[in-house]
Amino acid sequence: MIVAERKPLGEIKSFLEDYNKVLVLGCGTCATVCLAGGESEVKVVAAGLRIGFLKEDKEIEILEECITRQCEPEFVDPIIERAKNDSVEAILSLGCGVGVNFLAQKLETVPVYPGVNTKFFGAAIEPGVWIEMCAGCGNCILHLTGGICPVARCSKSILNGPCGGSSNGKCEINPDVDCGWQLIVERMKNIGTIERLYEIIPPRDWSTSHSGGPRRVVHEEVLSLNQEEKQNDGKADSEKRE
Ligand code: SF4
Ligand code: SF4
Repeated sequence: MIVAERKPLGEIKSFLEDYNKVLVLGCGTCATVCLAGGESEVKVVAAGLRIGFLKEDKEIEILEECITRQCEPEFVDPIIERAKNDSVEAILSLGCGVGVNFLAQKLETVPVYPGVNTKFFGAAIEPGVWIEMCAGCGNCILHLTGGICPVARCSKSILNGPCGGSSNGKCEINPDVDCGWQLIVERMKNIGTIERLYEIIPPRDWSTSHSGGPRRVVHEEVLSLNQEEKQNDGKADSEKRE
């Protein structure tokens, strides 16, 4: 999941000072699970903003909504319509950065502000604690490293580790962080694949990562079905006109 953390209320409030009608929009998926931007957080942020602005005698109408996902048209398009119909002046998105980008791309003239700081792709290791586990490099090599990611979990993203700096299983960069390569070595011992670590992982082509610029994934089957549907709709429309 994408892990995010709510921004401080003061920072959020500073984004909205120039508006009189704002929609606080939560996301029912990752942002909900990591307790940053779901339905409950929408209520808390909206209430905090109302109180904050009331103290300054500023009149502002704050609408609240939480949609299933802020990264898919199916859920986003209806809220865009609502924002237009309700003459919303700005949206505060409590979804991850993807949600903010997606809304901003669709709402030409309505500003969209981030209510959370998007952190990483990770998992909960205990209630309330998430750690980064994947850096979305675009060319997964977990089959070589026992299912533990050296890109995300080694502070130096070393592909042929360890670096030799770890102490008591902790990383030399930060003693609060487990050495990713120690985890890999232990894991590969446990699953009987430790010999594979003698193979050198060759230098990578990082163009599949964000270093190669914004990426896209195209599912050809879905794409061609969609194009076919559009063509059929176009034909049906022109037949109706005739
Ligand atoms: S190797 Fe790349 S895709 Fe695989 S877990 Fe690591 S960062 Fe993610
Ligand atoms: S101590 Fe471990 S996690 Fe830290 S940089 Fe070295 S190999 Fe990577």
